[in-house]
Amino acid sequence: MSTTTQAAHESMYEAVLARLNAAAQIINLPESVTEVLRHPQKEVKVSLPIVMDNGKIQVFDGYRVVHSTHLGPSKGGIRYAMDVNEDEVRALAAWMTFKCAVADLPYGGAKGGIKCNPRQMSEGELERLSRAYAKAMKDVFGVNKDIPAPDMGTSGREMAWILDEFNKVTGEDSPGVITGKPVGLGGSLGREAATGRGVMVNALQAMAKLNIHPKSATAVVQGFGNVGSHAARLLAEQGIKIIAISDASGGYYDEKGIDIQDALNYTAKNNKSLEGYSKATKITNEELLTLKCDVLVPAALQNVISEDIAQKVNCKIIIEGANGPTYPEADPILNSKGIIVVPDILANSGGVTVSYFEWVQNKMGYYWSEEEVNQKHDEKMKTAFEKVWQNAQKYKISMRIAAYITALEKIQLGIKMKGHF
Ligand code: GLU
Repeated sequence: MSTTTQAAHESMYEAVLARLNAAAQIINLPESVTEVLRHPQKEVKVSLPIVMDNGKIQVFDGYRVVHSTHLGPSKGGIRYAMDVNEDEVRALAAWMTFKCAVADLPYGGAKGGIKCNPRQMSEGELERLSRAYAKAMKDVFGVNKDIPAPDMGTSGREMAWILDEFNKVTGEDSPGVITGKPVGLGGSLGREAATGRGVMVNALQAMAKLNIHPKSATAVVQGFGNVGSHAARLLAEQGIKIIAISDASGGYYDEKGIDIQDALNYTAKNNKSLEGYSKATKITNEELLTLKCDVLVPAALQNVISEDIAQKVNCKIIIEGANGPTYPEADPILNSKGIIVVPDILANSGGVTVSYFEWVQNKMGYYWSEEEVNQKHDEKMKTAFEKVWQNAQKYKISMRIAAYITALEKIQLGIKMKGHF
């Protein structure tokens, strides 16, 4: 492995900068703008001492990085996972800046995280941890300042605790300070399935460009969490045959197509896991990623499509449901194979798009039907896809770099109009 490859593999933020620099060069972005965007605006790290159920105190590391507020308050999720660290949160925050700009939302980008293993913690421990995090971030979060949401390892439950604690500490009642809330607490209809829905809409757009008809198409979905399971269900509803799915327990393959509703029913009764699902053949993660199919949806973790996997991938379209599933070194390989990669900052922007709708509804105190939310979402997603597609044609580049260009053009304008750095 070369040193640059090694460096990129070690730092996710380096991977962001590599793509930022590539896009900046193509559009001759003023160096001052690139320089500003290379540096997150604010980084906060806190230690969170929690009384565990066994009576002992354990101290957890919590982070929040605000990458940019050039286009509005910063927006981005909070993840609970063991590999959370400064570099990862910084990279994810920067991706949110570009994601919000691509989706044309009036937001900058941020991300937060707590280094913990939520699967091994009780509900009480998770509640104490979420509340401690909210308290520690009381000066960072704000309805017009920095607006968190769920990410890996968190859901509406954690958002409700964080909202409640934030409101208690600040003495305000401000539902829009956090999105992805349960519907009864000011959450938006359609928010939970929104990221998966965005994946579906992007897949249909890309398939249309290649004249692939959904009824004769096959797809492979890696990951069966919030993003992957909704994406698989919604793709199947369009008539696409889902030939393989996976989760942490492994891959499950059936060339005749997996009944997604049946798999969903199974996980609902099986501690959210596909472990033991016997209606499909068990395959490895690598076998899953390299299956012959029309659409591959990596919707699990970052860094799954390495150079090696990229050589073996056998699909026409990749829709990046996860954040950062492809190593920068794999990009040229996928491009040379003619695979259309709809990049994360476009492909999974459905979630933050409906977060934006949730925030708007909270501000109005007036709520929309699910159909209205979905319709507004689909429109926004199609416009974003088309803009990125046009830029890819115009500059003769990949959709990934075109998405960065689309974002940078908007951010640059914002910075220029504000006239300050
Ligand atoms: N965590 C999601 C993402 O990475 C959603 C962020 C949000 O809704 O603010 O896009």
